[in-house]
Amino acid sequence: MTKRVLTAYFMHETNTFSKVPTPLEAFQKRAFYRENEIPEVYKGTRSAMGAMFEAAEKYGWTLTHPISASANPSGLVTDKAFDAVADMILKALDGPKVDGIVLHLHGAMVVDSYEDGEGELLRRIRAKVGPDMPIMVTLDLHANVTQQMADLANALIAFRTYPHIDAYERSWQACDLLQKTFQGKAKPKTFIATRPMIHGLDMGRTQKGPMRVLLDRADEIEAKGKIHLISICSGFTHSDIRDVGPTVTVTVDGNDPEGKKIAEEFMDYCWEQRDYVGIELLPVAKVVSMAKAGEGSRKPLVIADYTDNPGGGGYGDSTAVLKGLIDAGCKNVGFHAICDPEAVQQGIEAGVGKTVKLKLGGKTDAKFGGGPIDLEAEVAALTDGKFIAWGPMGGGVRRDYGPCMVLRVGGLNGIDIVVITNNGQGNDLGNFTSMGIDPTRKDTVVVKSMHHFRAAFEPIAREVVLVDSKSLCSEHYAPEMFKKARRPVWPFDNVTPNAR
Ligand SMILES: [Zn+2]
Repeated sequence: MTKRVLTAYFMHETNTFSKVPTPLEAFQKRAFYRENEIPEVYKGTRSAMGAMFEAAEKYGWTLTHPISASANPSGLVTDKAFDAVADMILKALDGPKVDGIVLHLHGAMVVDSYEDGEGELLRRIRAKVGPDMPIMVTLDLHANVTQQMADLANALIAFRTYPHIDAYERSWQACDLLQKTFQGKAKPKTFIATRPMIHGLDMGRTQKGPMRVLLDRADEIEAKGKIHLISICSGFTHSDIRDVGPTVTVTVDGNDPEGKKIAEEFMDYCWEQRDYVGIELLPVAKVVSMAKAGEGSRKPLVIADYTDNPGGGGYGDSTAVLKGLIDAGCKNVGFHAICDPEAVQQGIEAGVGKTVKLKLGGKTDAKFGGGPIDLEAEVAALTDGKFIAWGPMGGGVRRDYGPCMVLRVGGLNGIDIVVITNNGQGNDLGNFTSMGIDPTRKDTVVVKSMHHFRAAFEPIAREVVLVDSKSLCSEHYAPEMFKKARRPVWPFDNVTPNAR
């Protein structure tokens, strides 16, 4: 008999330190598709939803897909937004009888009334479908996974790459496990282990360090076929909630004690390696001098503004790096981006080819990354900010940065600044090419990103450096920032790993 599978995509990484709230409109302007819009956008793409359509075809399932919604990382999700999307999913369960569920969630969503957004969503779904409905969940590896999530989902399947380029594969994994469950060959249940730590695993970087060690170990154990899967999440530390921090979850068959045992052993290693840091952030002056020294290279120095990463909830309007480059008179630079809707409107009013005088960036909170800079610049291009991202992270999925412009300082061989309306990380070459800028020919390229930019930009770079613009996503955590995190907790208190 044909199985009916409900799938939904509901993603938000909530930076609770951000003053920018996340209402329903934040989802609507980023990626918000209902029912019949979903196949048109995702079928044939290398994305989580793309995999769902392929798996449904392979296994002969009928799909119900009420909603696919994601918003750029920002502050707390409003109750209204959360309820609206959750209700779309719950309502779809009132339709034809569903046999199984695959949810694509982030794992670090915080709602006005719920610290554990995903756990609350799962609670509402479980209350409706009962304990026997198989529910598979894919997660970002920056999820703050909770006991509630592990208890309510049958499987939690986290990304295994950072930059995240395996959403498609993890979605397939969820579908394969669901099909095995339908066939009576699997009865998945998930165990979780934690330690009293607010960050760890080198923020999830998978190229080297403790995350790599544990992923390799997980591959070996999974290959033996005795357990279903191991998920290792570094957590998302820009989140003042009780359960912030790294976790390991292990999905086994039934109540197999191996699940808890493996999860605890993995977390022992995570705890031992808690001091490991695999990156170095440079000051603005240093990266500006590197940019100046490399002029004429025609192959870019890629500078990533780590602490103003819109992909981590950064405001995306820090000006410190841009000001440094302008003051130094740097040449042949592509800069992505300053999020400043007001400036874009001024550019639209002036028109392409005109010179505008404006205050750019630094408007959300001038305490972070420098305030607005006064600029006289040419409006070199205006676009609708829409393109298809074909890079390793994009997979052929649409992007929408809202109305965008290129502001040009210092002439054709000067600094091309992309100014965007909808905040978002630059991690695809299309962020530049869609604006008429060829990043491969620049001497210097600036992006606002911690790590995701590497997938597309490392291959074109002559060198990659990270800069600290003193913005919101700084990883200097002070104990007074965390009022809700469980205590005692590392690195604020003197704790033993057994204190859970
Ligand atoms: Zn992530």
